[in-house]
Amino acid sequence: MSNRQGPQSSLDRFCAGKLADMEARFLRRTLQETERQPIGKASRNGSPYISFSCNDYLGLSHHPKVIEAAVDAAKKYGVGSGASRLVTGNHPLFRDLEQKLAAIKGTEDCLVFGSGYLANTGLIPALAGSRDLVLVDELAHACINTGAQLTRGTVVRFRNNDVTDLEAHLCRQREKAEKCLIVTDGVFSMDGTLAPLPELRAVADRHDAWLITDDAHGIGTIGGGRGSAFAFDPPSKADIQMGTLSKAVGGYGGYVCATRTVCEFLRNRARSFVFSTGLSPMAVAAASAALDIIMTDRDLVERPLNLARMFCRLTGLPEPCSPIVPVIIGENEAALQASERLAAAGYLVTAIRPPTVPVGTARLRVAFSASHLERDVEMLARLVHRELKGSCA
Ligand SMILES: *Cc1c(COP(=O)(O)O)cnc(C)c1O
Repeated sequence: MSNRQGPQSSLDRFCAGKLADMEARFLRRTLQETERQPIGKASRNGSPYISFSCNDYLGLSHHPKVIEAAVDAAKKYGVGSGASRLVTGNHPLFRDLEQKLAAIKGTEDCLVFGSGYLANTGLIPALAGSRDLVLVDELAHACINTGAQLTRGTVVRFRNNDVTDLEAHLCRQREKAEKCLIVTDGVFSMDGTLAPLPELRAVADRHDAWLITDDAHGIGTIGGGRGSAFAFDPPSKADIQMGTLSKAVGGYGGYVCATRTVCEFLRNRARSFVFSTGLSPMAVAAASAALDIIMTDRDLVERPLNLARMFCRLTGLPEPCSPIVPVIIGENEAALQASERLAAAGYLVTAIRPPTVPVGTARLRVAFSASHLERDVEMLARLVHRELKGSCA
């Protein structure tokens, strides 16, 4: 038998070795078949759970109007868009969605991408190259770092939300670079904290840098549903506000909001836009219907953060800024065990481990949704309180 195929190949040996290494460090991840259901429920291996591990903060993935919009679009236009939007895939539904997003973010224009990941990996290298400086918050999402690496420029990670550290890097490195980007999450996905946007704006302006915020977890949840820029008074807008349609908006897709000129440039130069198929008409129509709900149902938009506040009061955790509450456990194995105990009680709260979060800060990430009931939040708080007491004993 040739050595190039089968279980003994060097390729398989490489992968098996890596997997065994991950297993030993409690870092191996596995897919768990989970059927998500309306109102925050999920079913795994036939058992029912309440899920606190979804980013569907408003439950819009199951909203009847959103589903109806998707079904109508599929019946009318089919399930796929057929090509890149620059070729034949630019359905008129896109214009409606992009106008809504631009209005929500207060920008001239918007460009919808296939996903948030695709937006960042297309946007960042379109704007910066090998002679440029890209400063990225150390807790920013993985796809921002991927986008930054694709520039082949100088990439520096500054300390989380530390404007002094950021400015020190700028003082040292800005002069040597032609252009400079500062990129951060608006709401940090694993911590739930907000970036200090007014201070970042001021530093960016002092050093002639362009500020990009990734508001994946902000739209629909804070700032009256308009996202992190609008959580400040007055609002603090980055030069570019990107985000995703796959969290509070409930469906799938990504977007970039900016001036008309910036968006027109990206339509030409963001490779993940030019060379990737347009989003399905179903996803476009669903997002559009979901945004209508976000912009009109104030109570719905405020509910996830209010539930997070209630949970933090009950557990003695600090006041949250978003519907994401980290319960830091520390070691990977302990976080997995805590997650298993919660699952045994009927609550899905996934353990988040490195490299998603820094080593030694493995955690339970609790994500609140408008679909959750007060009594489930109370019950979860009781269980988490017990976990926290246990870990200190
Ligand atoms: C989820 C997420 C993304 C990726 O968005 P997708 O649409 O899921 O690809 C990007 N940035 C942040 C901060 C995220 O949390």
